Amino acid sequence: MKKKGENSYKMSKYNELVDINGKHFLINLLTGNIVELDDEFFPKIREAINFDVDLKNLFSNEDLEFLLRRGFIVESKIEELDILKIWWKKGFSQNVLSLTLEPTLRCNFACTYCFEDTVNGGTMGNKEVNKLLKFIKNYMKRERINTLEISWFGGEPLLVKNVIDEITQGVREIFKELKIDFEEGYSASLVTKGSLLDSSVLEKLKIWKIKMVQITIDGSEMVHNLRRPFRGGKPSFNVVFKNFINLLKFIEGESLSIKVNLRCNFSLDVRDKVIEVFDMIPERYRKNINVYCKHYFPKSSEWRGMKLVSSLVHEQSISEVEAGLSMEVFRKGYKSERMKIGGAYFYCPASTMHHFELTPDLKVYKCNVAVGARPPVGEITDEGNIKYNVEELKKWILIDPFEDETCKSCKLLPICMGGCPLARVNRRRGCLIGLDNLNKILTLELTKIILKGGGS
Ligand code: SF4
Ligand code: SF4
Repeated sequence: MKKKGENSYKMSKYNELVDINGKHFLINLLTGNIVELDDEFFPKIREAINFDVDLKNLFSNEDLEFLLRRGFIVESKIEELDILKIWWKKGFSQNVLSLTLEPTLRCNFACTYCFEDTVNGGTMGNKEVNKLLKFIKNYMKRERINTLEISWFGGEPLLVKNVIDEITQGVREIFKELKIDFEEGYSASLVTKGSLLDSSVLEKLKIWKIKMVQITIDGSEMVHNLRRPFRGGKPSFNVVFKNFINLLKFIEGESLSIKVNLRCNFSLDVRDKVIEVFDMIPERYRKNINVYCKHYFPKSSEWRGMKLVSSLVHEQSISEVEAGLSMEVFRKGYKSERMKIGGAYFYCPASTMHHFELTPDLKVYKCNVAVGARPPVGEITDEGNIKYNVEELKKWILIDPFEDETCKSCKLLPICMGGCPLARVNRRRGCLIGLDNLNKILTLELTKIILKGGGS
């Protein structure tokens, strides 16, 4: 005799129905599976989602099997939250040392929304470089880590190319000493304003093992020059744009596998201007450029204190504006992913164990936005170890969205995984998008997938 509940099924709690041009789609946010529903299936699925019905009566065995295999239906005994908890734990067990390094806080730009002290900020000298290299060696040896990823950040990291040279060479020697394959185990990325990305730097990208370059251009020439002038006030658009195109040519010419990210910060008053730069880039390069349009708060002090949401529109509308821009950019031929459907996409490394952000004086943080706004989680000692500030560290490391009842019942959890850790450390919830906007944003993302002609 069968026990109660045995072989019974339930709809996944991560299903969402989306309509595009009269067609109905069922999306599962946990598995990332998407199916188009015909006129016979759509009302059944809608009924199954909205009412507590016996799924075995509603669907044939074949249909049940189809939906079960793709995660739209799950066995009643399965708790989908447990799958997410396993993903969460897995994210913490990655054997990679991930460092965001600020070799200098100085910058040749004076962006109106910058939150760093780029005038008085320091630069890593020989002493700091040596301590940093000792730290990398000690940490990789002690934790038995054989993969290192460095992200060069600033200030403007290309103001101190010699420091990047020294650290890259030092890492090469450490890998040799630890008998780790440098080619396999080491990679880097570069976040630069772009004005110093000349031909000599392009040649260095290979030596520095750069796998991703990110440049920010704030939309039209006029807006960019207002928001991102050189220190002293001169306009920067022309030189940055020229270097950006030269970077694309270089990558193509040398057949390099370097990803290019184009970041575009915008405020709502210039929403319609930001798109101009995307028409200026030759079409043949566009499919290789990943564009990220991000709304920013208009004044640095407001951003720094994280007080302002926006006086113009509600925060939820901002994610909708960002998603709309992302769609426009996508239609112009760029890669422009606002949200990946399925699979713990927004997994910020800040709350993982082996991720650190280091300032020029070797203070250790978990996120670059926290530099100066929160106490460091530690500092590198002369012996090349981290002296932890345990009180601060635990706030980052012990973050657990599965202790948050709202996140536990939130449909977005498989994608957002509890959102921005910094927001949580500051005792807020850093939602990836507002739930009210989920359907609209999924509609846009699915449209991109359909236009691309299949899976993302
Ligand atoms: S601001 Fe939040 S999401 Fe961004 S890097 Fe920092 S902790 Fe991560
Ligand atoms: S942080 Fe917000 S969007 Fe993310 S899972 Fe929690 S409640 Fe949902």
